[in-house]
Amino acid sequence: MTKELDKVYDVIVIGAGPGGMTAALYASRANLSTLLLEKGAPGGEMLNTADIENYPGFKSIAGYELADKMYEGAMSFDAEHQLADVTGISDEGDIKIVHTKKADYKSKTVIIATGASHRQLGIKGEEEYQGKGVSYCAVCDGNFFRKKNVVVIGGGDSAVEEGTYLSQLADSVTIVHRRDKLRAQAVLQERAFEKENVHFLYDTVPLEILGDSHRVTGLRLQNVKTKEESELAIDGVFIYVGVIPVSEAFTSLGITDEQGWIKTDDYMQTSRPGIFAIGDVRAKHLRQIATAVGDGAIAGQAAYQYIEAQGDLK
Ligand code: NAP
Repeated sequence: MTKELDKVYDVIVIGAGPGGMTAALYASRANLSTLLLEKGAPGGEMLNTADIENYPGFKSIAGYELADKMYEGAMSFDAEHQLADVTGISDEGDIKIVHTKKADYKSKTVIIATGASHRQLGIKGEEEYQGKGVSYCAVCDGNFFRKKNVVVIGGGDSAVEEGTYLSQLADSVTIVHRRDKLRAQAVLQERAFEKENVHFLYDTVPLEILGDSHRVTGLRLQNVKTKEESELAIDGVFIYVGVIPVSEAFTSLGITDEQGWIKTDDYMQTSRPGIFAIGDVRAKHLRQIATAVGDGAIAGQAAYQYIEAQGDLK
């Protein structure tokens, strides 16, 4: 049974990625009682990134280190932090109830910052060999592939950046992309092209991940132009074919688009007054740490103005 807690917060932030931590910083610094709910370690996708080179102020910083610094900032003005898995929000007008697996929390405003998760390919062998050679996180699992041969699927920033990261550990990295042009930023492409052990297979899609029931042994591929099929002997497959919003808990509020991204205005306000959304879970063009941080600052301030307009500031 879930506990219903009496305290009414000014702001509850759901998710402690860069957006959520910034929102908590802005809200608590504005003297709003702020609760940050997160089901795992604070940091979000930063924790799965080896080095970050496009966050202003740092030429290069390890993902976990930037996460630590942001968390320290978020907690420096008396915000509270609870480990909690949010299952939904009930919008009761002036009060929102945030349901978690263990307790229900009340708040005047809620800022959703649940981010996005990796999309699966949906091919044969993908589920079966997860943790046995199939991975969605090079930083977490790359070490298991020292001196081995791996494939990275995808042509975006993640595939090319993580492929380059893996080239320091693995003997060879083959980036398999379905078109003949990569989507990744030019700087990331150039860095990958410079690595002798990074190879590219264009116009190619994976059809099946092969294995001996204990671990991945290969990949069945198809050239999309010639329709020719081939097999590649490999030890691991890293899948980076895009992201999907983590918004399932909020679909009943009617604030998402057809793909599940949460729609907001320029103030990060959803169609539900007092409920805001920020960062990767929001329908937007550029998903970056810098844009998540910007969203978080706007939402923290917008929450303050919303409470002030309700005549509800303490
Ligand atoms: P993404 O930009 O959506 O790229 C996904 C890639 O996977 C695309 O190349 C796409 O091909 C390919 N793909 C999609 N579905 C596929 C399928 N079923 N089979 C084969 N290939 C498939 O996703 P992402 O690279 O994970 O990046 C997500 C967001 O995070 C982006 O906004 C990105 O800019 C950002 N990000 C930024 C950085 C950085 O700034 N350093 C690092 C990582 C991620 P097509 O190109 O043909 O569509």
